[in-house]
Amino acid sequence: MTTNGKVLNYINGQWEVSSASETLPVKNPATAQTLAHVPLSTAAEVDRAVQVAQRAFQDWRRVPVVERVQPLYRLKRLLEEHRDELSRIITNECGKTYAESQAEMQRAIENVEVACGIPSLMQGFNNEDIARGIDEHCFRQPLGVVAAITPFNFPGMVPLWFLPYAVATGNCFLLKPSEKVPMTMQRIYQLLEQAGFPPGVVQLVNGAKEAVDAILDHPLVRAVSFVGSTPVARYVYERGARAGKRIQAQGGAKNPIVIMPDADMEMTVRIVADSAFGCAGQRCLAASVGITVGEARNLFVEAFADLAASRKVGYGLDEGVEMGPVITAESRARIERLIALGEREGASVLLDGRGKKVSGYEEGNFIFPTILDHVPPKSEIAQTEIFGPVFSLMHAETIEQAIDLVNDRKYGNMACIFTSSGAAARQFRYSVNTGNVGINVGVAAPMAFFPFSGWRESFFGDLHAQGIHGVEFYTETKVVIERWPKEWSRKF
Ligand code: NAD
Repeated sequence: MTTNGKVLNYINGQWEVSSASETLPVKNPATAQTLAHVPLSTAAEVDRAVQVAQRAFQDWRRVPVVERVQPLYRLKRLLEEHRDELSRIITNECGKTYAESQAEMQRAIENVEVACGIPSLMQGFNNEDIARGIDEHCFRQPLGVVAAITPFNFPGMVPLWFLPYAVATGNCFLLKPSEKVPMTMQRIYQLLEQAGFPPGVVQLVNGAKEAVDAILDHPLVRAVSFVGSTPVARYVYERGARAGKRIQAQGGAKNPIVIMPDADMEMTVRIVADSAFGCAGQRCLAASVGITVGEARNLFVEAFADLAASRKVGYGLDEGVEMGPVITAESRARIERLIALGEREGASVLLDGRGKKVSGYEEGNFIFPTILDHVPPKSEIAQTEIFGPVFSLMHAETIEQAIDLVNDRKYGNMACIFTSSGAAARQFRYSVNTGNVGINVGVAAPMAFFPFSGWRESFFGDLHAQGIHGVEFYTETKVVIERWPKEWSRKF
């Protein structure tokens, strides 16, 4: 998948070595082995990819919609056939367990399936006789060249939140994947090539800030989808909007989970642990704050800490491993600093995952599950996205207090409640300021046919990723009003 150890770009149906002089190593976070080097492609390379895509768009938009989705049907089959191989690549470059990588690929494939329905999903609407003999139609047309910039934590799924919808609606698509995990898309673009997309319809340019800025400033790029941290999401939104583009920018999160005393505790403990420590906490829908209400504190905390402590940490391809490393050594150091900050701010460390080694993988970026108890709600640690296997506990006396704690934060990606009371669940669902809500569910990840609905500083824009929102984001409406007077008809 590489040439001389270098990750390649894919432009105009050709695999290319970037002309960039700078590269970064791509490392397996469990073994510290260098897998490849990723080029930091230049603005000139982005420009060429966009120009090629713009030319390809002239033909691609004219391909009948039922034909445009045929490569996606083939892609679905190819992704299924290569799912094990892709999952191994994801685990090796991203660190999550093999089972988590398999689940990620399942979600990716579901987006391809939904986009196969574009012939129905991108239909317009119309009225006859809006005035006598006059009809009005609304069509959806593609934008042209669109781009996506994606994060490290879902190298297979997040790009496919966008690509299938973009191309099925008739656009040409440029991806700039995370420079930390470029290998998965090397392989998926080989499958895209096999699926039969014409040259220029799907483009891949590897890189970092220079490539991102070139995308945001390029006059021919009509829309940009972004997923990553909140500061970069805000930057992409502002710079892209200034250049007149449509932007959907998904940012970071700090997701609270409320545990009511009437919850099924055995189930709750298990599900919350999976949410907090799955993917080593590096999910934008990871539970990161637990708010116990009343008696729930005594019923939940000890059992939760016991289960967290028993989680098997290691290399994601090894048998029985339940949690992998975090992405880089810098990330581990940052997370350890944040745990120390929590201590200084008054939290007590109930379970400390710092400074532990995994036998055989001493160079890996491992942090074991960590629980901070009595986290002061106004502290910095209560508000900061940690993006690691660290769970913060708070306590409330009533559901109203708990909802206030849920809403007392800048992010709005997800909030969950565990309860057996329908009334409590409804009160929660109705009141929380987040766009994704879980009721007795720990990772409320919308299926591909629902929008991924982050709010507040977890999302900048209005149309979200996936499903019908994706279709609307990648198309423009054109309204046609037409009159055909009868007297113009030829007499037959
Ligand atoms: P990141 O913001 O560091 O990087 C994301 C992308 O932006 C990468 O492609 C990177 O090359 C680019 N980038 C980074 N810094 C840049 C800069 N200064 N200028 C221009 N481009 C830049 O994010 P990450 O560490 O890869 O991913 C983790 C973050 O993503 C977390 O905050 C997580 O919550 C978030 N995330 C959010 C969602 C969601 O749906 N809201 C989903 C997955 C991940």
